Amino acid sequence: MDQLTRKAYAKINLGLDALRKRADGYHELAMVMQTVDICDELTFAVKETPGIELYVEWSRDGWTDTESFPKAGEVQPVPSDQKNLVWRAAELLMDEFGIKKGVKITLKKKIPVAAGMAGGSSDCAATLHGINELFELGLSLHELQVRGVKLGADVPYCLLGGTALAEGIGEILTPLPPTPVCHLVVAKPAVSVSTPFVFKQLRVNELAEHPDIAGMCAAIRENDLDGVIGRLGNVLETAAIPHFPVVGELKEACKALGADGVLMSGSGPTVFAMFKSEQQAWEAADELKKTGLAVQIFVTRPV
Ligand code: C5P
Repeated sequence: MDQLTRKAYAKINLGLDALRKRADGYHELAMVMQTVDICDELTFAVKETPGIELYVEWSRDGWTDTESFPKAGEVQPVPSDQKNLVWRAAELLMDEFGIKKGVKITLKKKIPVAAGMAGGSSDCAATLHGINELFELGLSLHELQVRGVKLGADVPYCLLGGTALAEGIGEILTPLPPTPVCHLVVAKPAVSVSTPFVFKQLRVNELAEHPDIAGMCAAIRENDLDGVIGRLGNVLETAAIPHFPVVGELKEACKALGADGVLMSGSGPTVFAMFKSEQQAWEAADELKKTGLAVQIFVTRPV
């Protein structure tokens, strides 16, 4: 095989709780993760000369106006060198296995960047899968996860995908049955948010409330959509919203448009709104565009 293409799915967190800060600075978490049907696309092609080449392209899907869309010649928000997790994932496996040939990777970005949707981690996971397949390395999912966690705490989950409980720093995974059928409006405001910054703002010992993660898992197991909606919760909202008030404004706008549930995803600033009715989700997305609160808006569903 000398070329293959893989999709990298975005995730949302239906629940995100922080239990304590560890000595290494990471937080012990309990998160309910769900992939959604918004994906980047990566193509991997073998080249006869050694080394990695990475090209980043942009999908126009979801962008509400052409002004905010990344332009050619500008400093791009996604690097195409060693700073990109895609590059580092390819390098890690190719070095370990002493691969003499090179690889040309094209990454087409659709997932909002610096947005709390694990776009970088998902691209990283797709690269680990892609390089494993392209060079027939024969690594199992678990073997890829052991390597992936060195690149990012969400990478082991992104290698797995679907619905899962993630504990530890995110690497201890328990697969769950699919989330009950629902429709999602995913909206990313104009701000970009750094995950380390948000975790730094978090006062884990001062949290007034913790989301009911066990109850969320039970609701998913019972296919109880109301139970899921009633338990949406993310402690990182307490850390992000004071610094990025647009997240709170976006949540309020989604509620006013009739969303059954609304939550910030991961460390933000992306907000997702859950709807039982698909038509209502499309209508809300149209109305949300008019508010100017978001630069990217998708109507999607869990996958
Ligand atoms: O592992 P990753 O590079 O994705 O994590 C980014 C940052 O998020 C970490 O440097 C840390 O500040 C924070 N983090 C955390 N606890 C976790 C996961 C991430 O504090 N469980």
